Amino acid sequence: MSYSTCLQCRECGRQYELKPIAACEECWAPLEVVYDYPRLWSDLRRQDIASRAPTMWRYRELLPLQGEPCVGLQTGFTPLFRADRLARELGICEVYVKNDAVNHPTLSFKDRVVAVALSKAQEFGFQTVSCSSTGNLANAVAAQAAVAGLAAYIFIPADLEAEKILSTEVFGATVVRVAGNYDQVNRLCAEISMKYPWGFVNVNLRSYYAEGSKTVGYEIAEQLGWRLPRNIVVPMAGGALITKIHKAFEDLKKLGWVENAPTRFFGAQATGCAPIAMAAKKGVAEIDPVKPQTIAKSLAIGNPADGRYAVKTILTTGGAGEDVSDEEIVAGIRLLAETEGVFTETAGGVTVAVASKLIESGKLDRNEPVVLVITGNGLKTLSAIGGATRQTSAIRPKLADFEEHYVAEAAPAAV
Ligand SMILES: *Cc1c(COP(=O)(O)O)cnc(C)c1O
Ligand SMILES: [Zn+2]
Repeated sequence: MSYSTCLQCRECGRQYELKPIAACEECWAPLEVVYDYPRLWSDLRRQDIASRAPTMWRYRELLPLQGEPCVGLQTGFTPLFRADRLARELGICEVYVKNDAVNHPTLSFKDRVVAVALSKAQEFGFQTVSCSSTGNLANAVAAQAAVAGLAAYIFIPADLEAEKILSTEVFGATVVRVAGNYDQVNRLCAEISMKYPWGFVNVNLRSYYAEGSKTVGYEIAEQLGWRLPRNIVVPMAGGALITKIHKAFEDLKKLGWVENAPTRFFGAQATGCAPIAMAAKKGVAEIDPVKPQTIAKSLAIGNPADGRYAVKTILTTGGAGEDVSDEEIVAGIRLLAETEGVFTETAGGVTVAVASKLIESGKLDRNEPVVLVITGNGLKTLSAIGGATRQTSAIRPKLADFEEHYVAEAAPAAV
C-alpha cells in the first residue's frame, strides 16, 4: 500500500531508509519523506478519494505508513465553510474558515500529525512514546497513546495553560512540567532521546509526524471543489504546518488534480514570539531566536525547527509574515466567535488578527478570496481571555431587576 520510498535530507540530499532518524547525519538538517510520484500518478484518481470516508486517511497513499493506521481513525476532514459575516467585518470579498478547532479527538490540528506519528511508532515497535509540547501536541499524544495502549511521557513548559495540562493528564499520560520555555524543554527531550529507546514524536519520528500536516492542504483543495485558494493565512510555531500545506498544494499540482494556480502564503505569529514573521519581513531565511512572551502559548517556539523553510514558503509565493499583540489576539478570538460562532484558541486569534492587519495594510487584496486556517479550540485557552471576560453583577430573580439593568425601554405587556 505504501508509496513512501525513503527519507531525504532537505539540504544535502542524502537518502536514508524509512527508519526513526532525527536528522541528517552529515549536516543535521531535517529529513523529508520521499514518495514514488510516477506510481501515485498512475494508480490514484481524484474520484477514488471522493468515495472514501470523511477522515484524513482518505489521502492515505500520500502519507508515510506501510500498513493501516492504528490511531486517529476519525481524525481530519474538518469543516471548511464560507464566512460571509466575518468577511464583511474584515472588509474583504470572500473568506473561508478551515475549522480544526473541532478536529477529533482533542480539538486541534495536532491530532493529524499525531495520528501519523503514533501509527508509525507502532510500525517501528516502540512501546513508549514521548514529545515536547506547547500544549496541543501534549493533548493529542496523550489521547492517542491511550488508544494505542502505549506508555506516554509528555514534556511541557511549567507555565502552560491549566486547561491544557489537565486535558493531558486525564488520558493517563505521565506529564513532566519543566521550569523553562519550550526551547529548553525541547533540548531536554533531544538529550533524553539519545538515552531512552522511545518514539519521540518531534525528534526521531518528526519527519513522519510533519507529513500529517499535509492533510490540511489536501482537504482545503478538495473542499473548495479541487481548487487552490488565491491566499491563505496560517499560524506558525515550529513552521511545519505552513511548509506542509504548501507541499500538499504542490503534490496536488504534480498529480494533476488541481490547476496550476499560484497561492500566496501568509504566516501568522504573536508579536511576543515572532522569529519567523520577523525574518520574512526582513526578507532573509536566517532565523534570530527569541525568548517567547505571549498569551499564544501554543505558538511560543523561540527557535523554530522549520523556520527557514517557512520563510522560504512565504517569500517564494509572494506572501508575507505578520504579527499581532496579545490585545489583538483576544480581539481576533472574539471577532471569529461573534461573526461565525466558532470559538478558537489563541492561535486562531493570531490568524484572524493577522488577516485583519494584512487587509488594512493592503498586503492581502480585498478583492481576492482568502482561507484562514483555524487550528485549535477556545475551550483549551479560557484563561488567556479570562481577564477580559465581560463580567456583570448578578440580578435578583425579578422581572423588574431584569428590565432595570438590561432593557432600555420596557416593552408593553404581551396581549
Ligand atoms: C502547533 C500548533 C500550530 C503550529 O504548528 P507548527 O507546525 O509547529 O508551525 C498552530 N496552531 C496550533 C493550535 C498549534 O497547536
Ligand atoms: Zn544532509
